[in-house]
Amino acid sequence: MKIAFIAHDQKKNDIVNFAVAYEPIFCKHELYSTGTTGSRIMEKTNLKIHRFNSGPLGGDQEIGSLIAKNQMDIVFFFRDPLTAQPHEPDISALIRLCDVYSIPLATNMGTAEILIHGLERGDIDWRNIVHEQRTE
Ligand code: PGA
Repeated sequence: MKIAFIAHDQKKNDIVNFAVAYEPIFCKHELYSTGTTGSRIMEKTNLKIHRFNSGPLGGDQEIGSLIAKNQMDIVFFFRDPLTAQPHEPDISALIRLCDVYSIPLATNMGTAEILIHGLERGDIDWRNIVHEQRTE
């Protein structure tokens, strides 16, 4: 599965801790991130992550383009709900695209826990059918 990580500055420690905790699961997947989030995760894990631009410089939109092609399977987007972001329109667009393509999206740690266990249990295997249909 293709998995994306994005975290706003106040949430970066949370996403790093999350990635460390579930590294044995994440290492079996194809990982993507915005620039700084990916660097922070790679500093603390052995995960290989394809890093796009930093979020405010277009990284959210780059991840959005994979969602728009229905290639991204899961998004962990730890948003900071208490701080205004300069790239708010990009954030809304990314969330909107996840809804357009029914992509599982966790915007906080509580949902992220459910999602990662669902991934391990096979709850997101339907995405493989989407990929098979796309290549037919
Ligand atoms: P960053 O981008 O990982 O480069 O900090 C995340 C964001 O703020 O959207």
